Amino acid sequence: MLLPNTATPGRSVWDDVNRRAFENHVVALSQAKPVPDSRMHLEANWPKQCNHDLLPFAIERQLADDFAFIAAYEYGVGYVTAAAIETLSEPSSLTVRLAANEGVGDGVKCALDRLFRTLERCARKGKNTIFVSYRLLGAVVTDAPAGLSREECAQEAFDIIVELNRNRILGRLESKWFRRPAYDSGPSRGPLTLRLKDFIISRVSVRESSHLLSDSAKLFAQLDAFHSSFLQLEASTPSGVISAMKHVVREAFPITVDGVSLPNRLGILGCPISALDIREIREVNKLANYWRICRSLAALCRSYRALFSKLQLETLQHYEPSWTPGMKQKRYVHAEVQVLVYYETSSFSHWPRAIGASKEACFLCDALIKAHGSFHVSKAHRQVFSQWTVPDRGDYSTATLINALWRN
Ligand SMILES: [Zn+2]
Repeated sequence: MLLPNTATPGRSVWDDVNRRAFENHVVALSQAKPVPDSRMHLEANWPKQCNHDLLPFAIERQLADDFAFIAAYEYGVGYVTAAAIETLSEPSSLTVRLAANEGVGDGVKCALDRLFRTLERCARKGKNTIFVSYRLLGAVVTDAPAGLSREECAQEAFDIIVELNRNRILGRLESKWFRRPAYDSGPSRGPLTLRLKDFIISRVSVRESSHLLSDSAKLFAQLDAFHSSFLQLEASTPSGVISAMKHVVREAFPITVDGVSLPNRLGILGCPISALDIREIREVNKLANYWRICRSLAALCRSYRALFSKLQLETLQHYEPSWTPGMKQKRYVHAEVQVLVYYETSSFSHWPRAIGASKEACFLCDALIKAHGSFHVSKAHRQVFSQWTVPDRGDYSTATLINALWRN
């Protein structure tokens, strides 16, 4: 773990700001009610594409969000994960830079390593034609793993991602197989599949248009299939749980159309938009995400073959909790801040433009990232966490100290 406070007086981010006053203000803000709605970052505010950008911003941002999502494999604040995507052209490579509130676990590193090898095989698929031709000519070649079709790649990726996120998926479904974290002692909400079905049946009105009637009938059939797959999961043997989970996730996907469009679909079917921001809609979208991400990665392997032919994972060390003399609470460096500070203190010249996160950025992370100006997040909630802080590092450059948000 890194020490959060290594700066000396005169080169500290707190030289011109009273740290205790700042932290008292954060505590007061965290206790203020009400908390406004989440904030989406609109396309109009995205950065302009430059010649040296190897990925469109929308894809870089989606990849960062997706890798953070699949790496946050368990419940709990310690698993909240942030990611950034680095690309190089000479030689071509793509690096996923990952941080988690309490560090990136070995299980995640192992799973992502397997996932990357799968994606690389898919990216190289077309090149195998040349490889096979050399073999037919009797050339001496080094054996290389066989390429993968897009469908094979998506399936292999799905195996890896579902296995890694096993307990989180079971938790989203409220399955009997779920290992509940110690801090969660509340009663079960009941199966997600039933809660979602009850909500949609009560909200979707019967429409006169034949097209809408047909889609509502299709949706109800998909909800039945989703629930049936859940019942199969509950009745499965321990050795059959992973296979049954994959079936449930695959049944969740068509309900959302493409992994993200269920709210829009329900709106067209007459459900008031104001009623759609509920746990059940968010959870089914997140379940569908596990399959959407696999399909998306398999497609990107082919669209950006050179970058996906060499994939690397780099993880950041997290920080010890920070404590200010005279203050009661310990404070923590969130994963998004870890990523921002990494680039501020590295010599990496071509910074990513997006910081992806496994959940919406908190108010203070969003405010810091916005004021810093070099990165963008997809979405932020407006809650202030009283135990938030920034590292006060001894290796900040003079430029970093001059430009630091926390001086303003
Ligand atoms: Zn935060």
